[in-house]
Formats: sequence, structure tokens, C-alpha cells
Amino acid sequence: MAQAEQAAGSFGLRFDNSYVRDLPGAWLEQAPRRAVAPKLLMFNRELAEELGAEPEALEARAAEVFSGNLLPDGAEPVAQAYAGHQFGGFSPQLGDGRALLLGEVIDRKGERRDIALKGSGPTAFSRGGDGFAAVGPVLREYLMGEAMAALGVPTSRALAAVATGAQVLRERPLPGAVLTRVAASHLRIGTFQFFAARGQGDMVKRLADYAIARHHPQALNAGNPYLGLFEAVTAAQARLVARWMGLGFIHGVMNTDNMTISGETIDYGPCAFMEAYAPGTVFSSIDRQGRYAYGNQPQILSWNLARLAETLLPLFDADEDRAVDLANARLEAIAGQFRAEWLAVMRAKLGLAGEEDGDGALIGDFLKALEGTDWTLGFHRLADAPDAAALAGLFADPDALAVWWPRWQARRAPDFAARMAAINPVYIPRNLRVEEALAAAEAGDMAPFHALLDVVTQPFGERPGLEAYALPAPQDFAQGFRTFCGT
Ligand code: AMP
Ligand code: MG
Repeated sequence: MAQAEQAAGSFGLRFDNSYVRDLPGAWLEQAPRRAVAPKLLMFNRELAEELGAEPEALEARAAEVFSGNLLPDGAEPVAQAYAGHQFGGFSPQLGDGRALLLGEVIDRKGERRDIALKGSGPTAFSRGGDGFAAVGPVLREYLMGEAMAALGVPTSRALAAVATGAQVLRERPLPGAVLTRVAASHLRIGTFQFFAARGQGDMVKRLADYAIARHHPQALNAGNPYLGLFEAVTAAQARLVARWMGLGFIHGVMNTDNMTISGETIDYGPCAFMEAYAPGTVFSSIDRQGRYAYGNQPQILSWNLARLAETLLPLFDADEDRAVDLANARLEAIAGQFRAEWLAVMRAKLGLAGEEDGDGALIGDFLKALEGTDWTLGFHRLADAPDAAALAGLFADPDALAVWWPRWQARRAPDFAARMAAINPVYIPRNLRVEEALAAAEAGDMAPFHALLDVVTQPFGERPGLEAYALPAPQDFAQGFRTFCGT
């Protein structure tokens, strides 16, 4: 296999690869496959600066660096090992089958961030896959991650997208691409499962110590730091899923290998934003049972955290029964913790200040009235409507809204409109727009993608001329819309 060249320089990036250094056994050395004719599609200059890079120097060589052809000094590419429950079934060995961790950099704020390639060729973990990714899914992940970041949701970020010049074989040949993403780390629930399933308790402990030091140092203050770690991951993930719910975001593949220890969203595959509100909404073509439907995400959060707890049991207590009791007490608390996070999000979305007993019912009744109505527009238009009648054309059930309105009027904060504008976006990546932009990009026209990225990375407040981006797709498109895992 053709080898990547070593660059004479680091482009200002300060690599310090703690995962490779501290966790031998959790990765395999792996060079990226050489791209034949790399062409830069996207470069996130602002993020490059945040990472401490010299943006001009990096941009000048970006096609080579972000295809994996040219390794910056300090990069040590590895494929990370992990396992995971996929749609409920356990796979003891998944791992980076089409991704590579280039290394970690210490950014301008002193934070440690992973830089990883996705679509850079086969690895020892590729199983039946080819290790490659196509332009469409790579740009989809780019767009979704950047939109989520702009919406204030913890997420991996996109640093670059490069077309490789080669084709990848899917249902039809597609142009190949590599995504460079940046995350607090790529530690997943599945990373813990990998070692637990192999009976490597010592590695689970090392990994837990590593995760505490890197993401949740406050866990050390707990009587048992591993219980502290579990509680910290629970808190971070509950907050995250509550944010998704507030935005109508459906991850689509909440497998345990796609759930991070840091609490960031990763692995934007068949994800999408719901338009008409229906709790059972599923877009993913492979999610036939609706396991990861919009309204199921909170239960799946608990289920996934239970899988994490199982890997940590021996660290909770040497006595197995006691360990299980400790775990169960925490698992039973998750639904309540999630509910509290969700209520906080929903109160903010409705412009409520403080907490009152009837808030849960007020929120619940609004959601009933919202069923069938565009989620994003429903919240956005509520803020400036003079009365319920003004929204009669938008809401599928205007009578329910009219009954609810005076209760909301009595409860909302004096500055509700400003509060709501700060949390309810006007612009989200709408499915039809995303599909159009990706189809154009695949055909070589990046203009619609640039335009859409610009819209969704400034999601709050109406901007003149962008009205069409705020509207849901026509019904016939929405009904047939499916997303695919095809990265
Ligand atoms: P995902 O659900 O997309 O996060 O991927 C689940 C697993 O499948 C991971 O181990 C991936 O590395 C692997 N995988 C997905 N697509 C490919 C591919 N084209 N080549 C090799 N491995 C893949
Ligand atoms: Mg994944």
C-alpha cells in the first residue's frame, strides 16, 4: 500500500497523542490509503485557527493533508478499537473500519481535541467494508455537525472535506471523499464494551482512568471515582439528548458505539431534523423497527447507559451484588435526570422563567397541539404571534392551541420573546435543502452547499432573502424522505 508522506512541519498544530501513549491495546497503527487526485471541497478556517494551526500554511496543503496523503509532524495515525450494540445486538469487534485518529492537538484554549479522518481507506477493523466514504455522506456530516455547533449543541466539528479523485462502489459508483473531524475525543460506550467483552478488566480500568482524566476530572471527588465517572457521563448524555429533543433532531443510529463518553454528538449518518412533529418519526432506511425514532431517544439513552454500567460493574464494587445495586440505583435515576434536562430545554423554548409545578403539563399540552405541525416553525412563530388566531394556519390543531394560549400567556416571562428567539432557531438543515445541496455537490457544484452551510451556521434570527430556507418541504417529499447510512 502506498504510504503517506511525512510533512516537514506541523502547520502550527501541537500534537500530543495521549490515547496512543496511554492505551496500548486500544488501537492499531494504520496509515491512510493514498488518494489519487485529492481536491479540497471544504476547509473550516475558523476551526483551524481555534486548533492553533497556521491557517494559510495549512490551507495551502489542505488537499494533501486532509486526504491523508501528507501527515503533519506529530500525527500518528491509528485505528481505534471498539465494540458496540448495533440496533440492540452486540458486536464484540467493530472499531475504526473507515476512520483513523491522526492524533490529538492542544488547541488555543489548551483543550485536547482529536483530529480524525473518515473515509481514508481500509483498516484491520474494516470487516466486509471498503474503508471509503462518498462525497454526499461526507458533506452531510460536515453540514450537520457545523449546524449543531452553531445551535450550541456539543458535537464533533468538521475541519475539512476532500474529494479523493477515486470512485467508491455503493449501489452505483460515487465520488469518494475524506472528512476530517475534530472531537473532544472518540471514546465511546463501545470502547469500554470492547475490553469488557474480552474479559480485560485491567484495560477497562485504564480506560476509565483515562476518561476521568480527560473528560470528567470531577469524578475524582466522588467516593468511588468510577461511580463518579458513570454519573458524569450520564449527566452529559442526558443534557445532550435533551438538546436534541428540543431541536427535533433524530440521530438515527444511537448504537452504543456512536455514543460518546464526553457527551458530544458524533457519527452523523442517517440523522435528520424532524419537520412535522410526530413522536414516532424515523428517517433511517435501516431502522425498520423504529428503535431510534424521535420519541424513543430518551429510552435509548437509558438503555445505552445501562450497557456502559455493565462494563464498569467490577470497578463499582468488588462485591458483585453490591456493584449491581449501586448501578441500579443510578440507572433508575436516569429517566428523572433526563426529564429535568428536557424540562429546562422546553421551558426555555416556551419563554418560561423559573420553575413551576404546572410546567410539565403546560409543555405537554403545547406538544399535543403541535402534533403534525412543523416543529421548528411552531416554536419560532409562537414568539411573535399576537394571539392564537394568528397561528391558525400553521398549527394542525388550532383549537387546542387556542385553549392552551391563555395558560401560556399567564405563565410566560415578561421578556419571553427575546428568550425564545435565543433558543429557537429559524434555520435548521431542512431535509429537502440538504438533499439538493448534496446532489449538486456530487455533480461538482458546491454553490448550494456553501449557501446552505452559511444559512444553518447562523441559525437564530430571521435574515431577509432566506425565507425559503425556513420553510418545511412539501408533503409529498416529506412523506417519502429516507436517510441512508452510506458513508
Ligand atoms: P456507523 O454505524 O456508521 O458508525 O459504523 C459502524 C461500524 O461499521 C464501524 O465499525 C465502522 O467503522 C464500520 N463501517 C461502516 N462503513 C464502513 C466502510 N465503508 N468500510 C469499513 N467499515 C465501515
Ligand atoms: Mg460509528
